[in-house]
Amino acid sequence: MKKMFVLLLTLAMVLSLAACGGGKKMTAEEGVLIMATNAEFPPYEYMEGNEVVGIDAEIAAAIAEKLGLELRIENMEFDSIISSVKEGKADVGLAGMTVTPERLEEVSFTTTYATGVQVVIVTEDSAITTVDDLFADGANHTIGVQLATTGDLYSTWDIEDAGLGTVDRYNKGADAVMALKSGKVDCVIIDNEPAKAFVAENEGLKILDTEYAIEDYAAAVNKDNEELLEAVDGALQELIADGTVQKILDKYIG
Ligand code: GLN
Repeated sequence: MKKMFVLLLTLAMVLSLAACGGGKKMTAEEGVLIMATNAEFPPYEYMEGNEVVGIDAEIAAAIAEKLGLELRIENMEFDSIISSVKEGKADVGLAGMTVTPERLEEVSFTTTYATGVQVVIVTEDSAITTVDDLFADGANHTIGVQLATTGDLYSTWDIEDAGLGTVDRYNKGADAVMALKSGKVDCVIIDNEPAKAFVAENEGLKILDTEYAIEDYAAAVNKDNEELLEAVDGALQELIADGTVQKILDKYIG
């Protein structure tokens, strides 16, 4: 009887240790969900005073609430988000981030929660009237993009590497748009929602009707943290199923 009790006690201790993942924490900081983002991407994330607001900030807040964690948002260069998730400094990367095969080698992605479209912004009087104009023989346009975004990747492969034009990379989408206004670039390739926001804020610009690429947005999580991926993805799936995500999208996109 006594032997049995000791055995059970040992088993219970082993199990409770295993439940804590051998003492490893699920998030970088106990009780906190750290979201890495780049608040230059309205309406998904942008600054309002000192606060990062937008679709992703609200989705992350809802995920954190479901998991009983406190949300902390860290604003950084878009280029640093994946590495900070990889290094375990941030728990989730939420930044209107497109799922790509290349990024899947670096991080895991949750279920997708929104669709993005790469569009082309030009000046109202531009000679560029369709996406195909960018790929025409001898086109030789200068294309403005935000560094390390899919707009950068695709135009680098399809246009620059193909010898059809040049890509100018900016840290912020808004800076690429300023370069378009001042005539330094011939167009900007960027996601449709920030494109709409930038065009609304700047006179004399328009978005071409033809789309460059259609893609899925998801949250990035460290590849080796299965527990966190399951927790974040589970919460996100519930928020999609009960209509919360759609409500947040509608609030900003309408
Ligand atoms: N969807 C694009 C990408 O993932 C742009 C994201 C962004 O600039 N925040 O590369």
